Amino acid sequence: MRFIPPALQLLRPGIVGALRNSTRPPSRGISNKHYRTMSASIERAAEVSESLAEIKARVEASSLPSAPFPPTLVAVSKYKPASDILTCYEDGQLDFGENYVQELVEKAAALPLEIRWHFIGTLQSNKAKTLAAIPNLDTIQTLTSFKTAKALDKAIPDDRKMPLKILLQVNTSGEDSKSGLPPINTADGIAESELAKLAVSIISDCPKLLLQGLMAIGALDQSLSASETEKNADFDTLKATRDFLQKYLASHVDEGGWGRDKRLVLSMGMSSDFEAALKAGSDIVRVGTGIFGQRPKKTSE
Ligand SMILES: *Cc1c(COP(=O)(O)O)cnc(C)c1O
Repeated sequence: MRFIPPALQLLRPGIVGALRNSTRPPSRGISNKHYRTMSASIERAAEVSESLAEIKARVEASSLPSAPFPPTLVAVSKYKPASDILTCYEDGQLDFGENYVQELVEKAAALPLEIRWHFIGTLQSNKAKTLAAIPNLDTIQTLTSFKTAKALDKAIPDDRKMPLKILLQVNTSGEDSKSGLPPINTADGIAESELAKLAVSIISDCPKLLLQGLMAIGALDQSLSASETEKNADFDTLKATRDFLQKYLASHVDEGGWGRDKRLVLSMGMSSDFEAALKAGSDIVRVGTGIFGQRPKKTSE
């Protein structure tokens, strides 16, 4: 007998039926292996629930008492089936992160509207329209260009209820393999930095976007040492960049909202280092493997 979670009732019947009965993937975007059915086996659901509860407890235990808001845990569900997401959703998890536009589009169409989707993958301006059409896309965490910002702003439907939140990706480690704008390490010449220019343009020219903060994917060696010593150069670099940029915006931008109450938030920390990231002042942590287990290896990751 197949276990069908109650949340399936929230889904559109046609889609659920199609997903449940089909032996083929709903489209080319997601392979059959990853999207076979909306209902997890009882064993799988119990496993995911338990991992999520453990990660949530660890997030809470590492939160700084001085933080103005409780941290946001984004469950990174790339390559994982919709049934796993539904399991977490039923446990009260609402923030999920996805890296691939097509995979996100299909999951968003099939899963509850209360979910807050975070796009955390490489973003190209020609995908802006597709992303902007997702009504419950909450945040784009990986913006790096004004061209894409403008394309998103133009494509967001007029009936969208909230501005689309934006984090600018910073390449804190300077690795060629990572995207992101260069960090800021001095107040000198900050007006000419790519980050400050992009931030100001979004605030002044993109009314449907809300610049919220900065995001980084740190280097692996820093992450491994952070789990031992809680010292991580990438965290320090992102924090310093935020402090410089925040100060600059506070004194140079008169109109237009940004941040959470004029405070730029930080998205840093993944499965291997989220506790150290929280202790370093992160507001948003992105945890995949720790909740859902290993992903199939992909060369593009
Ligand atoms: C995949 C991914 C994560 C999650 O990584 P884990 O190590 O599995 O927790 C977080 N952030 C980004 C940008 C990712 O691509």
